[in-house]
Amino acid sequence: MTIAVYPGTFDPFTNGHRDLVQRAVSNIFEKVYVCVVEKSNKETIFTASERISLAKKSLEGIKNVEVIGFDGLLVDFAEKLKAKAILRGLRVVSDFEYEFQMSSMNKKLNSKIESVFLTPSESYAFLSSSLVKEIARFGGDISAFVNKDVKEALQSKY
Ligand code: ADP
Repeated sequence: MTIAVYPGTFDPFTNGHRDLVQRAVSNIFEKVYVCVVEKSNKETIFTASERISLAKKSLEGIKNVEVIGFDGLLVDFAEKLKAKAILRGLRVVSDFEYEFQMSSMNKKLNSKIESVFLTPSESYAFLSSSLVKEIARFGGDISAFVNKDVKEALQSKY
């Protein structure tokens, strides 16, 4: 079975994340673990358990996907889950430098686990959690970018 881990902060989970998982699990991997970083070095507006629960709700209906929280070294966690790949999204050039650095380091830490990058579907190329938060903060309509539970959660935060 070809398993991938998809790590991220997911603050909050967006339709762009969902699209990536859906394509990964339909076209490449037999199972994808969405790994929500519990103690992110980014400042988050949602707690780890809120981010996990919103990711689960956003992924309803997609088979062979599991959402779990994690902390620590990703490659160790991936190995425990018998994952062969780390899945990440590459949207714009500015993503590249950080992703290249991370994947090189992960390869040094465990050469058996490969990083796999998917580019977003056209309609989500510009979408990020931070942009969604910014729009929500100013009362903009985010219905096209997140599922209804995430939308409600964001509205009650702001
Ligand atoms: P992190 O804090 O690890 O960057 P994010 O939650 O921001 O976590 O993103 C997790 C992963 O999802 C990253 O690889 C990111 O590039 C990818 N991603 C985020 N938004 C999109 C999108 N709209 N389309 C494709 N990939 C995306």
